Amino acid sequence: MSTRPVVLQALSLLPSLERQLNETYTVHRLPPAGAERDAFLVARGGEFDALVTSAAGGADAKLINALPKLRVISSFGVGLDQLDVAAATRRGIPVGYTPDVLNDCVADLAFGLVLATGRRIPEGDRFVRAGRWEQKPAAPFPLGCQVSGANLGIVGLGRIGRTIARRASGFEMDVRYHSRRAVEGVAWTYEPSLLELAKWADFLVVITAGGAETRHLIDAKVLDALGPQGFLVNVSRGTVIDEAALVKALQDKRIGGAGLDVFEREPQVPRELFALDNVVMVPHIASATVQTREAMAKRVMDNLAAFFAGQPLPSAAA
Ligand code: NDP
Repeated sequence: MSTRPVVLQALSLLPSLERQLNETYTVHRLPPAGAERDAFLVARGGEFDALVTSAAGGADAKLINALPKLRVISSFGVGLDQLDVAAATRRGIPVGYTPDVLNDCVADLAFGLVLATGRRIPEGDRFVRAGRWEQKPAAPFPLGCQVSGANLGIVGLGRIGRTIARRASGFEMDVRYHSRRAVEGVAWTYEPSLLELAKWADFLVVITAGGAETRHLIDAKVLDALGPQGFLVNVSRGTVIDEAALVKALQDKRIGGAGLDVFEREPQVPRELFALDNVVMVPHIASATVQTREAMAKRVMDNLAAFFAGQPLPSAAA
């Protein structure tokens, strides 16, 4: 009989990570939610030492409590809004995640969306592909908003928010930020009022944690403060924005535009947005590069390896 720790894999993962997991551990796949999963957990829930999941898949208290031998959780990603860390902690189960290694990629995509929205890049691409440029249109292609030297408001100056702020210096932008408290030791100006930050900003980039505390932090009032010359970029979680209010603000052109990596009900996206030129949408790809995903996979493996070697997790959320 194998003496390798037994791992429950909650969902599909990067193929190279699945390969490494299978080389190192005895791995079982969790069936999708429903009757089959429930029966599986009743019959076999007591077999697992570790749970491997992702920021998107998470793990709720029901799943954690259905695994009585569970000793460690290792999650692929940095968001913890779908993972009941408190339920794990109550049982003394450490939770590993993958912070820092994705800061650069998420910051890069945030800037991609700043440029794409402000300079109307996807709209220009559509214009050229449709042959409208060649048709010598009566109205010229609409003017964009200059990014260099603009005011950049960052909502959430954590690990990724700080990386975004550093990128902004290359564009000679003025940077201010909002979070629940000022961050010590940084040169950027703290703005205690989110509304004031939105009023001041040409580009408002949202990169707070998700979850109940930040739900609909960006509401109609904040969008109106940003105004028709302002652009919103969201690379945090869809829940941080009141999506219905955002759709309305974009339809009514009460904000200049929006660049969205994340949505409230992924992979569902409000159909009204499909008809609008002032929104740029990508399918939750902020960390999705070969290099970053491999670095995240390594963190998942490192957290498990440390735990089974009796060491503290190198990247522990709790
Ligand atoms: P950090 O924990 O380092 O930063 C989170 C920031 O959010 C802190 O500055 C915190 O400041 C702020 N914050 C939390 N609650 C509030 C609030 N109520 N109001 C205002 N600010 C708040 O996390 P990371 O920078 O590593 O990641 C941030 C988030 O980005 C993740 O939680 C994840 O959801 C998302 N993410 C998205 C990805 C994507 O693919 N789109 C990829 C990776 C991450 P304070 O506590 O002082 O308020």
